[in-house]
Amino acid sequence: MFALRNASRRLYTSRRSRLLSTLAVLEHRGGQVSASSLPAVTAASKLGGPVTAFIAGGDSASVAAQAAKLVGVSKVLHVPNGAYDKGLPENFAPLLAENIKAGGFTHVVCAHSAFGKNIMPRVAALLDIQPISDVTEIKDATTFVRPIYAGNAIATVKTGQPTNIITVRGTAFPASATEGGNAEVAEAPVDPKAPALVEWVEENLAKSERPDLATASKVVSGGRGLKNKVKFDEFMPPLADALGAAIGASRAAVDAGFADNSLQVGQTGKVVAPQLYMAVGISGAIQHLAGMKDSKVIAAINKDADAPIFQVADVGLVADLFQAVPELTEKLKNEK
Ligand SMILES: Cc1cc2nc3c(=O)[nH]c(=O)nc-3n(C[C@H](O)[C@H](O)[C@H](O)COP(=O)(O)OP(=O)(O)OC[C@H]3O[C@@H](n4cnc5c(N)ncnc54)[C@H](O)[C@@H]3O)c2cc1C
Repeated sequence: MFALRNASRRLYTSRRSRLLSTLAVLEHRGGQVSASSLPAVTAASKLGGPVTAFIAGGDSASVAAQAAKLVGVSKVLHVPNGAYDKGLPENFAPLLAENIKAGGFTHVVCAHSAFGKNIMPRVAALLDIQPISDVTEIKDATTFVRPIYAGNAIATVKTGQPTNIITVRGTAFPASATEGGNAEVAEAPVDPKAPALVEWVEENLAKSERPDLATASKVVSGGRGLKNKVKFDEFMPPLADALGAAIGASRAAVDAGFADNSLQVGQTGKVVAPQLYMAVGISGAIQHLAGMKDSKVIAAINKDADAPIFQVADVGLVADLFQAVPELTEKLKNEK
């Protein structure tokens, strides 16, 4: 009886997964699939059905050829049209919505990046369905875990929708392997060529020789405790260089002009989960913790022993950062 029940459960599961079909929406930049899209492919594979990757832009054919090698992808649909190069939601969302309808996908997965946050709610609105955003765990094809209240509570949500529009948190899923797949590549069935009511004028990207904050394995972040931009620039880069780390900042530090906006970690900044996160002169407000508390090891330097950052820190140093940071930097340099 037990064996029979197990066999029928297996049959049901395989029938159900045959009905599932997932579209993984990939970002690309400079002719390369963006690293931020790779965890989305892993998440899409976890749903159990076949995964089709979706790419649009002037160089979509060459990006599609790369995407075909991603492990977990069985088909790649691409739209060769330069109008989608910048991922403008005004024309990208209708493009995606029409292709979701044409392909009858049950799940559409994208990274919870600026691109995903911009596009996916509009796609959901066009399809008149409820998006499920910032997913950190996939329990099964209808059950998803996501943080709410800036990560202070974790919600498990169940969906009964025929189509599910999902964004996934990059730090919660491993990146899919970029070699080893051999997917079929085809042009997407629909290009509605919806007019974009906005025009892309230019972008000014912050350039840095340091590791990218979002994907770095070590991050050192500075807060208001650094007092001003001159001190931030004097103390944080040498520490980052000694550790081979990316630099982050609290919102208070960003708002006060100590650091660039792109370096903000937290609820309204980047979400990071490096092997090491070092918070320097940061109190540990919940909005900051929302962006870094999944880090593997958290170290904190703060002169206030009661600062909330010490409640999440694995290693804490109660000290004046202006003495502790140069000392630590020197020791790290000598260890190299
Ligand atoms: C809707 C909303 C969204 C937000 N989003 C974000 C976000 O994304 N990211 C974010 O960071 N914040 C965010 N905030 C702001 C957040 O609430 C805090 O105000 C902010 O994180 C505080 O930054 P801080 O820790 O650098 O500054 P403070 O809270 O002022 O802390 C400075 C710390 O430095 C320590 N210190 C001072 N001098 C020294 C010294 N010489 N040596 C050692 N330690 C010293 C102090 O003891 C203190 O703990 C958000 C707030 C709201 C309302």
